[in-house]
Amino acid sequence: MKQLNIKTSQQTEMIDITGDVRRFVKDSGVGRGICYLYVPHTSSGVTINENTDPHVKDDILNQLARMVPQKGEYKHGEGNSAAHIKTSIVGSSEVIFVENGKLVLGAWQSIFLCEFDGPRSRNVLVKVVKED
Ligand code: ZN
Repeated sequence: MKQLNIKTSQQTEMIDITGDVRRFVKDSGVGRGICYLYVPHTSSGVTINENTDPHVKDDILNQLARMVPQKGEYKHGEGNSAAHIKTSIVGSSEVIFVENGKLVLGAWQSIFLCEFDGPRSRNVLVKVVKED
């Protein structure tokens, strides 16, 4: 298992980490297998979606903000309940196939670290498992 360290700069943002993960898969030397991504945080997650048109991530973040307001009738005393809820909505892991030493992603797909309570230093755990 390896770890990507990402420094986020906004309270809420989606950061394209596809290039980092691709390098990681290349360096692993695995030709065919599975790449697991896991974000070990409770206010930051990971998702796969379009980055060709940057408006897509804006739409995702704006709609999440409408669905889960920053201030609401939350019980959690830390004041970041919205971040926890958004993290559960996008999820904490992704599984991507590896073929011919490369991630199998659709033409429009990118991998995003989703920050919901930044800016902070975040980790993405990456494991590439070789298929026999
Ligand atoms: Zn909290």
